[in-house]
Amino acid sequence: MYFSIDAGVNSIIDLRVIPLMLVVLYSNWISASVTASLIIITRFIIGVNAQSYSNVIFILVSWAIFQYVSKRMKNRWICIFVMLGISALTNAFLSIWIPSTTSINISLLINYSIISILGGLIAVYILDYLIRSEELFLQHKNDAFTDPLTGLSNVRNFDRVFNEAKKRQLKSNENISIMILDIDRFKQVNDTYGHLEGDKVLSKFALILKSIQGPNEIVSRNGGEEFSILIHNCTLEEAKERAESVRKVIENSYFLINNDTKSIHISVSIGVTTYSDSTKEIDSLYEHADQALYAAKKSGGNRVYLYS
Ligand code: GH3
Ligand code: MG
Ligand code: MG
Repeated sequence: MYFSIDAGVNSIIDLRVIPLMLVVLYSNWISASVTASLIIITRFIIGVNAQSYSNVIFILVSWAIFQYVSKRMKNRWICIFVMLGISALTNAFLSIWIPSTTSINISLLINYSIISILGGLIAVYILDYLIRSEELFLQHKNDAFTDPLTGLSNVRNFDRVFNEAKKRQLKSNENISIMILDIDRFKQVNDTYGHLEGDKVLSKFALILKSIQGPNEIVSRNGGEEFSILIHNCTLEEAKERAESVRKVIENSYFLINNDTKSIHISVSIGVTTYSDSTKEIDSLYEHADQALYAAKKSGGNRVYLYS
């Protein structure tokens, strides 16, 4: 409103109804009432005269028109055209009706109507474009941190979360545990039933991990048939118990394949370590859990090994 056009005789012209229209179109009545109030109050701050009072009527009538029309018209662009058209007519009527406006400039009113309708259409186009871009950005951001097969956090997200956990650890001095899980003899599943059935087993495996995920845990698929669970504020003893319960859940689960006509069992080996109970260098956490996993595999699989 401070950048509006001085139209003489205490009146100023601007596109103040456009933000109101945008809020009605994209948000709810609470936002619309805040917007309407701000426009009205600002006009009174600029000056109190007949025009500032007529502005109250103009804004309230325009708001009512926007609410009414936006609920009833299906075609978005026609709807915007009609809303701004009626609002412009209201403005013209008020300009003629308010007595202090002695010289009514007809061409100004016509220009105002054309500019406010065009401005409104352009504003909606830009806002639609921004919203679409923002949605795409969020979707890509989410995709970048999600494993497409299982929907779990991927290795990139694991790194991010792990780095955050390290920073947090410096402040809070809490324990951080990591378990790395690797499905035993998974190649055999692929070789026997095919890669697609193997994918189903991986998805179900991830689903189970998600269903038993604790509040302090981040479950990730770090690659292939290798997964990890990062646990905040968890001692080695607690992590060991947790890993053992995960191992048992997997051992006792059924994995349906071949159009659900066959169920198979799998097992998982888990390597566990904790900063600072068993690993003294926080940067070695993953490597140590991997070493424990390797030892678990070497001793036959389907077991939990702690790093020491
Ligand atoms: P181990 O008990 O030593 O872990 O044996 P393994 O067969 O599980 O391990 P290995 O590393 O020999 O083989 C891993 C297999 O996982 C081989 C690979 O084809 C399979 N794999 C990796 N990623 C995927 C995937 O996305 N889908 C499917 N279906 N299989 C995968
Ligand atoms: Mg394996
Ligand atoms: Mg592996």
